[in-house]
Amino acid sequence: MEVRRTVPVTLDVDSDDAALLEDTVDTFLWSAQYVVDHAFQGEYVTTSKTTLDDETYDEVREATDGFNGGLVQAARNKAAEACKSVVARWKNGKKASKPCMTSPHVVYDHRTATFHDEYVSLATTDGRIEADYVLPDEDSDTPHAEYLFSDEYETTGAELHRKHGEWQLHLHCKTEMESDMPEQATIENRTVLGVDLGVNNLAVASTGTFWTGDEFDHWRREYENRRGDLQEHGTRWAHQNIQAVGRKEEGRFKMTLHRIANELVTEARDQECSVIAFEDLTDIRVRTGASWGHKWAFNRLYEYVEYKAEEYGIDVEQVDPENTSRRCSHCGFTHPDNRESESFECLKCGYKNHADYNAAKNIGLRYLRRNQTGDGGGAPLGVRLNSGTMNVNGVYEPPASTEARTGVHAESHDFSRG
Ligand SMILES: [Zn+2]
Repeated sequence: MEVRRTVPVTLDVDSDDAALLEDTVDTFLWSAQYVVDHAFQGEYVTTSKTTLDDETYDEVREATDGFNGGLVQAARNKAAEACKSVVARWKNGKKASKPCMTSPHVVYDHRTATFHDEYVSLATTDGRIEADYVLPDEDSDTPHAEYLFSDEYETTGAELHRKHGEWQLHLHCKTEMESDMPEQATIENRTVLGVDLGVNNLAVASTGTFWTGDEFDHWRREYENRRGDLQEHGTRWAHQNIQAVGRKEEGRFKMTLHRIANELVTEARDQECSVIAFEDLTDIRVRTGASWGHKWAFNRLYEYVEYKAEEYGIDVEQVDPENTSRRCSHCGFTHPDNRESESFECLKCGYKNHADYNAAKNIGLRYLRRNQTGDGGGAPLGVRLNSGTMNVNGVYEPPASTEARTGVHAESHDFSRG
């Protein structure tokens, strides 16, 4: 598991260097704003970092008299992210205007800064400066001691901020795993949570947690009834009301989807999964017979999970969906007759379970197989089940801690949510 922390450190900066940092902040913000302005020029807002880089890098370098290339790129990334979040708000029907880069800061990475134990070297508009960290004395309980001076934590980057006349560096630190954690934890943290999306159950996790589509269906029916009533009036007033009802319903759907997304991410965190795997959503209507409304819901749910999972360093991936509902997650035998509506019963080995749960396990397994040949360093991988883990060869391992859950070998379902 990757643990990330941000540690604020005050810098000891003399007046000459402070002037350089001021100038660097101004140039960084000017560069970011230049890219934002450029992104907003056309008919559509450009959010691609590559496109923005191609279209603005040379211009920015020229206009800034050769501002450090790494800082120009960091400013462009900042601008691209700001533009992306505006577009995301628009897509969600919210208002947002062109971003203004006013908060005084500079984003540093390893190309533009060198992080030492007690000081930092930072690129500026005129070469590099070195600044000492102002650290509390002999204090072993401060975050500085825990993260900065720890060999286990690596500094990945930093943001320079100017606050109340002080220069502060927010250092981003990460570590792979605390060394005193048992090995089992490492295995568990390489675990994937498989998620199957569908019509009857909106989402089913490989841990056996089900989120039903009842609430969603109920609201959709209610909306369609009200729309039907209003349509009979055929007036302009009725038409406007249909739109208002639609917006209200959309808001309710989204709230439900946000809740499910939160619960999915919580499930992944509780089970110490580092990856959440979904099936590829492109042709999900063809495969599942889902309505456009469902497809809309699946896409939103995926987006929300992706967004929320990022905060905890959990990756969200899509895998090839072929046969995930027809394949036996126990023996691998694949046949259309294995599945009959919500029941799965393998024609070969007799494995029986809920069809969506079987599919969720297959989605997790497919992610593992796809990444098996990757450069994972041979670390053990597994799909998180309702108890224990299944590895890439389908071999089941009971949970390390016997008190974690009861009924180790029973694949009972948790229908309590949803
Ligand atoms: Zn089987």
